[in-house]
Amino acid sequence: PKLIVLGAGESGVGAAVLGKQQGFEVFVSDSSEIKQGYKEQLKNEGVRYEEKRHTIEEMQTAGLVIKSPGIPETAPVIKYLREKGIRVIGEIEFAAQYTKAKTICITGSNGKSTTTMLTYHILKKAGLNVGLAGNIGKSFALQVATEKFDIYVLEISSFMLDDMYDFRADIAVLLNITPDHLDRYDYKMENYANSKFRITQNQRSEDVFIYCQDDPETLEGLKRIKINASMYPFSLKEKVAQGAYLNEQNEIIIKVPNHENFIMSINDLALQGKHNVYNNMASGIVAKVWELRNETIRESMGDFVNIPHRLEHVSRISGIEFINDSKATNVNSVWYALESLPGKIVLIMGGVDKGNDYNMLKEMVQKKVRGIVCLGKDNRNIHNAFEEDTEVIVNTATMSEAVQIAYHIAQKGDTVLLSPACASFDLFKNYEDRGDQFKAAVREL
Ligand code: ADP
Repeated sequence: PKLIVLGAGESGVGAAVLGKQQGFEVFVSDSSEIKQGYKEQLKNEGVRYEEKRHTIEEMQTAGLVIKSPGIPETAPVIKYLREKGIRVIGEIEFAAQYTKAKTICITGSNGKSTTTMLTYHILKKAGLNVGLAGNIGKSFALQVATEKFDIYVLEISSFMLDDMYDFRADIAVLLNITPDHLDRYDYKMENYANSKFRITQNQRSEDVFIYCQDDPETLEGLKRIKINASMYPFSLKEKVAQGAYLNEQNEIIIKVPNHENFIMSINDLALQGKHNVYNNMASGIVAKVWELRNETIRESMGDFVNIPHRLEHVSRISGIEFINDSKATNVNSVWYALESLPGKIVLIMGGVDKGNDYNMLKEMVQKKVRGIVCLGKDNRNIHNAFEEDTEVIVNTATMSEAVQIAYHIAQKGDTVLLSPACASFDLFKNYEDRGDQFKAAVREL
């Protein structure tokens, strides 16, 4: 049969390699230019491809189509395939058919990468043969084609979930649901929430569903969606019968039937901040359900080093702390950043606004933000939102200008925080580039 892969990024190229290995006739088609490295990889595998177009004659003969999560349902090529009744699925769904490995799937509006990495870290340190894939690092399909893991920890975005139909997660984690990417969901929160809940579709009673008991949108969703898996909530506010909660001594308690409780003070966690207590709870439940020893879990939660660009400490200059949180691309993650930092903050924010509602930040800004330095295209919205809440709001055009001005506004003991609430592609290649430029600008001070 003929397999067409739409989009030659990490997931597309992985799907092509796996498809070839499984005996499909593979054709890759990308509407933009394909990166040189990926072209080489396709050539080496003997996979035919085209770029800057989708040729209709090729599409007509497809038996199965794998689409990249970046391609929206409204793209003409997808509409065409749907009309023809050709099956279109995502790379995760495709790859899962060719492995017997167990899957731990992590989704949510914020904290996916952190929780995925942390879970992977705990399982790996416990000596399990575990792989890391999904929205992070090497694609799942490529690893299924080339490696032999017993378990995968997969970071799953809502776009990926939209292309998953029969996939069944052994353990599904839904961290939280707060507004993001609404442009892809007809600006309806319910559509976006439904997409997130697909993480638990097809689960059975022997599977596990881990979710946040304090998250209003998740609780709303649970009223309309039936969960078949065993449920493990986590909460900072209330005690749960099974799952995770915080006791009066600020210790995380994790309860799993027939096992000794896990206990750890939040002061001993490597990742600090309230949001990270949630992330640790979610990872901790996974580890307990997997029957890892309390001692092992505690050790891993204590020595975990997070990936760059997430509340990353950069430098301290004349008593002013510089923190890079370039990965904060929505309003909710900025809220948690402000919440978790002590003292007054000079906030560098802005970029491509995905339909942000800044209202939820107002109180926090009044309380903790000394000034806002806008950097990016959509500054007007930020001005309108915070004009009355902070002493200064200024516009800047480059990262080094933004950093210099922020440094100027900041007083001894303050923190200069890059936490944009927006996407980065107006001025930067991606959020990593934005964070790297921030760090370089700080070093130049
Ligand atoms: P994702 O992969 O979902 O984008 P990351 O782990 O990369 O999540 O974190 C993205 C941003 O969200 C960072 O600024 C981080 O500080 C913040 N964050 C992390 N975990 C949470 C959480 N549980 N709730 C809210 N914000 C979070």
